[in-house]
Amino acid sequence: MTRDITDCTFAELKEYMAEIGEAPFRAKQVFAWLAKGASADEMTNVPKALREKIRVTWPDILREQVSRTDGTRKLLVGFPDGEAAECVFMRYEYGNTACLSTQVGCRMGCRFCASGMDGLVRNLTAGEMLGEIRALERAAGEPVSHVVLMGTGEPMDNYENVARFLRTVHDPAGRNLSYRNVTLSTCGVIPGIERLGDEFPQVNLAISLHAATDEKRSSLMPVNDAYPLAELLKACRSHAERTGRRVTFEYTLIRGENDSAEDADRLAGLLRGMLSHVNVIPLNKVKEKEYTGATREAARTFAERLERKGVPATVRRELGSDIDAACGQLRRRSRNGQEQNGQEQ
Ligand code: SAH
Repeated sequence: MTRDITDCTFAELKEYMAEIGEAPFRAKQVFAWLAKGASADEMTNVPKALREKIRVTWPDILREQVSRTDGTRKLLVGFPDGEAAECVFMRYEYGNTACLSTQVGCRMGCRFCASGMDGLVRNLTAGEMLGEIRALERAAGEPVSHVVLMGTGEPMDNYENVARFLRTVHDPAGRNLSYRNVTLSTCGVIPGIERLGDEFPQVNLAISLHAATDEKRSSLMPVNDAYPLAELLKACRSHAERTGRRVTFEYTLIRGENDSAEDADRLAGLLRGMLSHVNVIPLNKVKEKEYTGATREAARTFAERLERKGVPATVRRELGSDIDAACGQLRRRSRNGQEQNGQEQ
């Protein structure tokens, strides 16, 4: 069967072109087209005979929610095997940002998260992640300049495909996206953090921390049993020192759970002196879960307390608040055939 070339790195595409008897410069042309999200038919400077020899599969847009207030778009994209993933287009001052899923489902089991409620279905390929960017750009009619791997899935649990995706979007022959414009968020899988630091030192690292003691963190995030706080923070410190880059800590504020002044002080104690930044995010309510989000006011108070203790912190700007079905909920609802909120297109 012909190979789906959306998943090829530039080097692999060159090899593949040689295999099917094409000149090396064709690989360059085709790779540039793939970076633009073209279909085989749209590759106008490529002979028809070659276009007929390659398979280019991009995901379909199954659902689209558009915020009326700030242009944030949330898409559910579907793959040929019937699986689907969510991705989001957001406009920031510094550029358009694509938030991508790296897996269908997730096996990390964070208690407050909708993405992992049914476990892991499968990994996404690099080509499928590229397909998410393509779908977002086509839906928004604007190019994406920044990528955050903060959608459904744990990137470190799909490291090979994520690394392949990073190399492909970074390739100067393709999208030529700077690694500095990419942020990878992990729940704290230490071996992955070490590999990322070795192989992609310029990619921004974000850690989902959410608690400042092992007891509390383990109750929210089972991954903490495997990689407890002291070891995680040691790996983060070493990452910041080695790469010279600031590590971002995400702290989802859950009412009555991790939002006290004492929690803030403990957190400040853990991070003091590290090249770091804390993003405080009020929890998005997930219908099936008991947890409730703290108010924005509480989030501000929490962030101010961290700042006073010398730890840089901000409350994450809220985009698409009218379509804020928490991460993973669009796919779940779609599958269960339930109603959507927000404006559908
Ligand atoms: N698995 C990776 C990336 C995906 S989750 C990670 O854990 O970092 C992206 C972020 O959304 C994480 O910080 C996660 O903890 C957070 N998150 C999950 N469910 C949430 C919810 N209901 N409200 C707010 N943040 C949530």
